[in-house]
Amino acid sequence: MSFEVLHKIPSVEEVLKTTETELTQELKALKKERDALIKAVIRGESDKFLVIIGPCSADSIDAVADYVSRLAKVQERLRDKLVIVPRIYTNKPRTTGSGYKGMLHQPDPHDTPNIIEGIYSIRHMHIKVMTESHLTAADEMLYPDNYVYVEDVLSYVAIGARSVENQQHRLTSSGVSVPVGMKNPTSGDLSVMFNAIYAAQSDHTFIYSANEVHSSGNPLAHAIMRGSTNKHGENIPNYHYEDISAALELYEKMQLKHPAIIIDTNHANSSKNYNEQPRIAKEILHSRRYSNDIKNVVKGLLIESYIAEGSQKIDGEVYGQSITDGCIGWERTELLLEQIADGI
Ligand code: PEP
Ligand code: MN
Repeated sequence: MSFEVLHKIPSVEEVLKTTETELTQELKALKKERDALIKAVIRGESDKFLVIIGPCSADSIDAVADYVSRLAKVQERLRDKLVIVPRIYTNKPRTTGSGYKGMLHQPDPHDTPNIIEGIYSIRHMHIKVMTESHLTAADEMLYPDNYVYVEDVLSYVAIGARSVENQQHRLTSSGVSVPVGMKNPTSGDLSVMFNAIYAAQSDHTFIYSANEVHSSGNPLAHAIMRGSTNKHGENIPNYHYEDISAALELYEKMQLKHPAIIIDTNHANSSKNYNEQPRIAKEILHSRRYSNDIKNVVKGLLIESYIAEGSQKIDGEVYGQSITDGCIGWERTELLLEQIADGI
């Protein structure tokens, strides 16, 4: 065995009690209000459309806060039609384990890893965004143990394609009190995603945060379709009408609560070509207009977008440009959000 202990990670109580990472009463009220708005869409009580949108990875507090403040203006304008949830993804799953693993590991992408600093930076970023833009965010729960550090700030949680088959992710999701989107696995097997939704909607007894806990089950666990990769390494989209219809049939067969599908317009759905996202979004809007069943079940989109178009290497200096997956830039983002609001 060869682990060298570097640092003891502070407890959640220690992290939450520092003044700059504690939520004010106003921010607690904002979180409650935003949670209700987002939950109503997943429950089908609101016919607004969810748009979970932002960079693949939230690598810089200033650029992310700037980006979200732009989103907030659009949200205000389109508030009757859209519920915009900024993507503030701070933990990145890496296909080979190497590369930038997100702000949790590397609060400064130009510097060496520092996880304690990472935890504080993430909370600082969320609180800045909430204070300046009055929006609450989505993140991927890559490490279920770390959810305690962000539980009070996140309004939406995603389980990634590489984690969705994992028991601890499923059980932890069953105790999360905001909507959890389960992605289809990279293989594309929809039964894995639906089994994950079933598990998350059920109650469980398990070990969480060093305690034996009982979860209530999360009725707002739902599907995110992100395309797949076959054994030849080719990307196979699953955002077409037929794919959504097949998922809807499985939803009905499994008798799950609150059927809801979010379509991820990037990743294997776009063959990692971020430029395709506006076209894919428009095809989904068309499918929703064509069929009421599809309209009722497709409750939102997940889009990768940032200030500058494209992506750069981790040591790149372009302000507001992704250092992981390519993103559409701000101008196209604003136009796309207007088009989505017009097309729903
Ligand atoms: C992501 O959302 O950036 C991501 C890594 O997604 P997936 O788990 O679908 O690959
Ligand atoms: Mn991505």
